[in-house]
Amino acid sequence: TNPTTGPRRVLLKLSGEAFGGGAVGLAADVVRRIAEEIGAAVRAGVQVAVVVGGGNFFRGAELSQAGMDRARADYMGMLGTVMNCLALQDFLEQDGTTTRVQTAITMGQVAESYIPLRAIRHLEKGRVVIFGAGAGMPYFSTDTVSVQRALEVGCDEVLMGKNGVDGVYDADPRKDPSAERYETLTYDVALRDNLQVMDNTAIAMCRDNDVRMRVFGLEGAGNVTRALLGEKIGTLMTA
Ligand code: UDP
Repeated sequence: TNPTTGPRRVLLKLSGEAFGGGAVGLAADVVRRIAEEIGAAVRAGVQVAVVVGGGNFFRGAELSQAGMDRARADYMGMLGTVMNCLALQDFLEQDGTTTRVQTAITMGQVAESYIPLRAIRHLEKGRVVIFGAGAGMPYFSTDTVSVQRALEVGCDEVLMGKNGVDGVYDADPRKDPSAERYETLTYDVALRDNLQVMDNTAIAMCRDNDVRMRVFGLEGAGNVTRALLGEKIGTLMTA
């Protein structure tokens, strides 16, 4: 489904952690900056779909550790992602960028349902489409959903925006000062070396479907725009 000609269409994954600024809740200044950086790329002609995580509110696995039923906890996690979607939508609209939120769990008052063809139409019209509530299914991650949505709505590339790290390293750069960042990396090597870029379901899906993914750091002014425009920042992952 990848368009070989025509405007660039990308899927941007934003970690919930970034939205919380490292805490629980919403860091409005961070979300506003990211929204403005997305707006700049949209005005330059890039079609942008977004998946937002929810780690700044709830992670199902953590609630399950605390004694909750895993599936119900995962639904709480998915609902958290929708709050992030609405925040991003608000700051995008304030900045003059038109948006639609589509959720995998129906909630008609706040968002459209996920309808792939409709999402594509929004993108063609220059609207930013923000996908919420993950896959609508427990035991999945927003990383996996990012890959799935990118495939279904025909994105050229997945841009995986990370908090606290600016690409994929051969060791944890926060613990090992000699860690080196990969310029390019295959999914097979990431799986073999257990590099923890994202969960293995997402990596396997990328590998099996030949998805191009750029892993980059959300921090630093202009990084989101650069990634959206196709600059070679961070680490490029390929099959
Ligand atoms: N989640 C889920 N199914 C999905 C996507 C998300 O159950 O398809 C839940 C899961 O509990 C996860 C939480 O939503 O922990 C928040 O998403 P994620 O951890 O992927 O967010 P991020 O780490 O990117 O902030």
